[in-house]
Amino acid sequence: MIRADLHVHTKYSSDASIQPKTIADQLYAHSSIKAVAITDHNTVEGYHKVRKLASAYEDILIIPGVEISTNEGDVVILGTAELPPKPWTVKTVVNFAKERNNLTIVAHPYRAYGLGDKAKNYDFDAIEVLNGVSTSHINRMAEDLAREMGLPGVAGGDAHVAEELWTVYTEIQASADIDEIFSAIRKGQIRVAQTEKSIHF
Ligand SMILES: [Zn+2]
Repeated sequence: MIRADLHVHTKYSSDASIQPKTIADQLYAHSSIKAVAITDHNTVEGYHKVRKLASAYEDILIIPGVEISTNEGDVVILGTAELPPKPWTVKTVVNFAKERNNLTIVAHPYRAYGLGDKAKNYDFDAIEVLNGVSTSHINRMAEDLAREMGLPGVAGGDAHVAEELWTVYTEIQASADIDEIFSAIRKGQIRVAQTEKSIHF
């Protein structure tokens, strides 16, 4: 079993300030969360920095990813250290991910820049049902969407500042291996939870 935060930003996102070193250091020091997906807005630069810093540590896993601002809303791809080609429509981004066996996640569907009900028009792998900076009401709507679409629900803190790190996690029945993690998520062998650090709304 591994606990992962599947949605974290670094200062390489234009609206975030977290230093890559802070993520590597805090993940190494964390008592239970041992994996993180770096999902900056429209760039993978932060992922490469965190990964480099984290290589000095054992027992932590950095999952490559990106949060693409498509014309209809935010889509998270996990497993890619490269950007999809433009134009960034939901369809082109999902197809890019499928061809590479990456994992596609509907980020915070009912918040600003979320896809909302339009997510139902596409073939996603998972829905973000617990977003660390969304209200519980908005997260519950995302849970309903996941149920309706028959998709697994994942958790991501969506931290943009260091204080927001490690508020939620996805517990995955897998070892610290990205392929195993994706396969377990696809099978729904996961549960989501908040940490004691989480901000309750
Ligand atoms: Zn985000």
